[in-house]
Amino acid sequence: MNLPVTLSVDADGIGWITFNDPTSRANVFNPAVFQALEAAIVGANAAGAKALVLISAKEKIFLAGADLKWLGGLPDAAAAAAVSKEGHRILQLLAESDIPVIGAIQGAAAGGGMEAALACHWRIASDTPATQIGLPESTLGTIPGWGGCVLLPRLLGLAAALEHIVQGRLLPAAEAKAAGLVDELVPADQLKARAKTLALKFAAQGVPQREIPPAVEATWWAETKVKTLAKLRGSRSAALAAIEVLERGDDLPVSGALAIEAEVFGRITAGAVCKNMIYAFFLRDGAKKRTLDSWDFPAGDEAVAGGQPVRKVGVVGAGVMGSGIAQWCAARGLQVVLRDVKPEFVERGLGVIRGIFAESVKRGKLAPEAAELAQDRIATTTAWEGFADCDLVVEAIVESVAAKQQLFAELATIVRPDTLLASNTSALPIEEIAGQVPNPGRTLGIHFFNPVSRMPLVELILGTHTTAATAATALQLVKGLGKSPVICRSSPGFLVTRVLFFYLNEACRMWERGASTEGIDQAMSEWGWPMGPMRLIDEVGVDVTDFIFGEMAHYYPERFERSRICTRLLAADLKGRKNGASAGFYCYEGRKETLNPVVASLAPAATESAPPAKAEEIARHLMGVMIAEAQRCLAEGVIKTPRDVDFALLSGAGFPAHRGGLMRYAESLGL
Ligand code: NAD
Repeated sequence: MNLPVTLSVDADGIGWITFNDPTSRANVFNPAVFQALEAAIVGANAAGAKALVLISAKEKIFLAGADLKWLGGLPDAAAAAAVSKEGHRILQLLAESDIPVIGAIQGAAAGGGMEAALACHWRIASDTPATQIGLPESTLGTIPGWGGCVLLPRLLGLAAALEHIVQGRLLPAAEAKAAGLVDELVPADQLKARAKTLALKFAAQGVPQREIPPAVEATWWAETKVKTLAKLRGSRSAALAAIEVLERGDDLPVSGALAIEAEVFGRITAGAVCKNMIYAFFLRDGAKKRTLDSWDFPAGDEAVAGGQPVRKVGVVGAGVMGSGIAQWCAARGLQVVLRDVKPEFVERGLGVIRGIFAESVKRGKLAPEAAELAQDRIATTTAWEGFADCDLVVEAIVESVAAKQQLFAELATIVRPDTLLASNTSALPIEEIAGQVPNPGRTLGIHFFNPVSRMPLVELILGTHTTAATAATALQLVKGLGKSPVICRSSPGFLVTRVLFFYLNEACRMWERGASTEGIDQAMSEWGWPMGPMRLIDEVGVDVTDFIFGEMAHYYPERFERSRICTRLLAADLKGRKNGASAGFYCYEGRKETLNPVVASLAPAATESAPPAKAEEIARHLMGVMIAEAQRCLAEGVIKTPRDVDFALLSGAGFPAHRGGLMRYAESLGL
């Protein structure tokens, strides 16, 4: 039988414990892996091994932590605490072993993988980009539960350990070494040889001893709690739990501290925040595997399995979105031709594109040569050169039905009859703008979000004409671009714009009835949104918001009671924080933002009832509006499942992951 962990003892008496799950591309911890690890440790001792090396046979993964399906399915705190204790029992066999244990890390050592490495007496890591080391549990709403909260403070000191646990960041090899998470870095091809040398050395000299980090003052805890929590956005429960374990376990021997870790880990892992964050994790995972199953296409159009390859993309409009789309397509290897109506607009777009490439190089995401090659894949024009042989054209011109209709009609005379024609419209029904072109089955919406280089979501919009073949090609393209698709039936605002702007409009209506900017924003930030709605309007642009309010009022006249506050702000030249503008609901000066005192004078005399005053009431009311609109989208078949709604708002609108998702939250309220 192929085991996920195997032992071999070499001629020099060194036991090699190798992680290599034969059923998966990754190595993770689950009950079978723990069992196999224990058997390997016991086997090594029985064979009289004089030192042990923990290593992985997979190139990119040492050990990626707990199997999240298992963790997310634990029924209660007692079951989660038992999982923690079992991990402690087995990893302590390594930590307390009389023979030296060396962790030889190549690839990701994350969460439980890092904790297995922490149980080793010495850690070396290969200096390759695949090596990523850290404790990311807090990003899933929990804490390290297999010794991380106990062994890391005893290795690095409390302050540094807490920082790692709360941040939950995976560190590249060099940073991990500088931080003290590993003792040595070696080139990948020397990892085994160095591990062997160290194993023989420590077998002869004994397990290396380490200095104990200095203790902290009694006042340190209270100060640290305040400082740590102030830096956090979203849920604080994981940070609070980590502080609790570190503080209560500080003076205890390791065994006592581990018992506290198990108790707190059990409580928090079985809690709602962790369950929600694991749910959100799987939503992201699911989007990568999205298919067109269950969607209907025009009669006689059989569903097709795969799409046609897209090698060349035409982008019309070199504004905010067109430049972003052109850059992203070129970075992912496609030929691109970008058009705008004036040379200076093309030039401005190219400037934006150069900036995005420079940023990717700076952040280590693209090598300078790769960025240069990608940039060279973008041709530009103010006419139509280069469009005739495009496989797909996406337009990102002004949001106007008439302008887009005219553009599609013109495009159809230039491109091949089978060239896919897509719109990046945020809200307009696709058949309204493209339904008249010859062969309309090739039209659809591909709605990227702003900024394209950072937002993972793409809404794929199926019009009534869109054929299965068109949809399959577009879906394949979006996945190939590394974006996460949701599929929507064409309807005004699709999902994200519709739900979000009903919410923003309601926030404005509350404001008009007398609620304060800061009251509304604080309530929604406390609820978990990265920023409140008024602050978000400044970011989106007061002009764009007002325009979309107009569109929503046009398409949903029976329900959308349009707020006019954005129109008033615009008349006072307050456009928000876009395109050089620096005032809207707030005034912006560099990184500083203050409430804009002018705005209060623009409020109409309140004629309706007073708005809710308490933060929870504001949040309940505004979230209720969002939920109701999303439920209508589901009922109308604009989107298929509550999970799709949840994913779209998490990845396209910043919905707080610790709440799981909009519909999951609605379900928890019994709505
Ligand atoms: P923008 O105003 O920044 O850019 C539009 C560009 O299109 C301008 O440079 C304009 O000169 C050019 N243009 C107009 N007519 C043209 C034509 N016939 N041929 C070539 N170029 C033409 O607009 P934007 O913010 O990039 O938005 C573009 C589209 O994307 C809109 O439909 C918008 O609703 C949608 N969208 C915008 C965002 C956003 O946050 N900005 C997000 C998602 C979708």
